[in-house]
Amino acid sequence: MFLNKRKIVLVGTGMVGMSFAYAALNQALCDELVLVDIDKKRAMGEAMDLNHGLAFSKASMKIYAGGYEDCADADLVAICAGVSQKPGESRLDLLRRNAKVFQSIVGPVVQSGFGGIFLVATNPVDIMTRVTYELSGFNSARVLGTGTTLDTARLRYLLGEYFSVDPRNVHAYVIGEHGDSEFVPWSQAMLATKSVRAICEHSGGKFSLEEVQGLSCQVRDAAQEIIAAKSATYYGIGMAMVRIVRAILSNENSVLTVSARLWGEYGQKDVYAGVPCIVNQGGIDRVLELLLEPQEQESFDASCGILRESYEGLKL
Ligand code: NAD
Repeated sequence: MFLNKRKIVLVGTGMVGMSFAYAALNQALCDELVLVDIDKKRAMGEAMDLNHGLAFSKASMKIYAGGYEDCADADLVAICAGVSQKPGESRLDLLRRNAKVFQSIVGPVVQSGFGGIFLVATNPVDIMTRVTYELSGFNSARVLGTGTTLDTARLRYLLGEYFSVDPRNVHAYVIGEHGDSEFVPWSQAMLATKSVRAICEHSGGKFSLEEVQGLSCQVRDAAQEIIAAKSATYYGIGMAMVRIVRAILSNENSVLTVSARLWGEYGQKDVYAGVPCIVNQGGIDRVLELLLEPQEQESFDASCGILRESYEGLKL
C-alpha cells in the first residue's frame, strides 16, 4: 500500500468503468487513475475528457491512458472489462468468452509485479471474481467482487422510503449470488437496533411484513427494469465501486456485502458469494457471519450451489 500516492488502474473503460472513473474524480478518490482498455483510442479519449473536468474538481488527480505495466505500483486494479451477450448465445458461452477476456487481463497485471487488490465488477460478478482469484494465485483476501453491494444499497433505499427513515440507519443485507438467487435474510434486518419484523408487528397495521418482503423482488428486478428502460446500468455500480475502494484505500474496516471467497463461513467453501465483510486496506479482513434461520440458510446454500455449478461449467 503506497499511502502517499493512492493509485488505481481501471481495466475496461465502457459505461461501468467510466461511471466509476467519473464518480472517483468527483469524490477525489485517489491521486492517480490509469485507464486501460483493449480499445486504446477509447481509453485515451476518456482520459482526455476526464482531464478537462479537473479544473472544476476538488481533486488534483493524474489521469492517463496506460497499460498493464502501470499496475506495478498500483494499490488497486478495478476490472470492468467484458464482452456482451451475442444474439442466441448461451450464458455459459458468454461466461467462457469473458473468462478468456480475463485471461488476457489478469496474467499481465500479475506479471507487472502488482501487489495490491483486485476489485471485479464484470458480470456474472461472483464467477468472474473467482476466475480472477484462480488466475492470479493471490490470497483470497486480496480478490473481491462488487457482489451484492449495489443490491444492498437499493434495499436500504427502499426500506428507508417505506419506513420514512434515513437509509443510513437501515441495516439489512442482500446476500448470495448477484443475480436471480440473491435474497434478504429478513431475520437480520434492523432499523437502528430494532428488527424490521418487530416494527411491523407492533405498528398496528401501519407497516406490513408482506409489503416489506415485496421490496426484495423490486431489488432483484431493478437491473432488468433499468436495462429495459435504458439498455444498461452503470451509475449505481460506479458509485458502489467508489464506496468499496474508499473502504480499502482509507483502511475503514467498513461492512460491505462484497463478493468474497468462503472458507467454511455459512457452511460453504469453494465459492465466491456476496456476504457482509469487513473491508480494509488488506481487502477482505473477515467475513461477518449472520445467524441465519434454517430457511434462510437453505436459500443461501441454494444460491451457492448455483454459483458453484456455473463456475464448474467453465472448466478453467
Ligand atoms: P461496455 O461494453 O460498455 O464496456 C466493456 C469494456 O470492456 C469496453 O470498453 C471494451 O473495449 C472493454 N474490453 C473488452 N475486452 C477487453 C479486454 N480483453 N481487455 C481490456 N478491455 C476489454 O460494458 P459496461 O456496460 O461497461 O459493463 C461492463 C461489465 O459490468 C459487464 O459485464 C456488465 O454486466 C457489468 N455490470 C456489473 C454490475 C454489478 O453490479 N456488478 C452492474 C452493471 C454492469
